[in-house]
Amino acid sequence: MSHLFNLPPIPSIPVLGEAGTYPIRRIFCVGRNYAAHAAEMGIEVDREKPFYFTKSAASAILSGARAAYPSGTDNYHHEMELAVAIGAPVHQVPVSEALSAVYGYCCALDMTRRDLQLSERAKQRPWDLGKDVESSAVFAPITKAASFGQIGEQRIHLEVNGQTRQDATLAELVWSVPEIISHLSGFYHLQPGDLIMTGTPAGVGAVLPGDIITGGVDGLEPISLTIGSAV
Ligand code: MN
Repeated sequence: MSHLFNLPPIPSIPVLGEAGTYPIRRIFCVGRNYAAHAAEMGIEVDREKPFYFTKSAASAILSGARAAYPSGTDNYHHEMELAVAIGAPVHQVPVSEALSAVYGYCCALDMTRRDLQLSERAKQRPWDLGKDVESSAVFAPITKAASFGQIGEQRIHLEVNGQTRQDATLAELVWSVPEIISHLSGFYHLQPGDLIMTGTPAGVGAVLPGDIITGGVDGLEPISLTIGSAV
């Protein structure tokens, strides 16, 4: 039986050295995974367990895009992140085996309606309006895990109009990539196409129409986003 109407194609991400692209199934995001960022948000890191929110795959766009300033916010923030692309099915995987599920890594932006996220947080409501924003999940091309190597002291940084706003290293991650995959796989059957944004370092801040965001992680393809006019 055919569908009643056609949906847009599944968004997908280029992969270095591959003709095919990586199709996006789900986008999981880790909250407060750098202590200095948690502090700037007025909250201490919960070292007992990580927590998550999600962005719809329909919110994904690619590095180099121009994205309209979204409706419903006066405080649209940048968050520079390392994203992990899952390449093998895992469920309840131990930390020691979790990296076997990684296909590759890429730079990502978790663009956020900060005013709505904070007002939702204050009312103990879900963060969807703050986080699941159209065109807010930005991905640069994926580098395969073997080419990236071990996660360690790689610099993670973001600039707005050439001025540095975020500058940290992956060694500052509170929950490591294998710890995140292991924990998340306790609740989900992770599958190829699932992406995990691992959280943002300190220095988040607002952008305005016309701003150009650039960012990078040592060893990965850089990311960029231009903020268009308000819709
Ligand atoms: Mn984030």
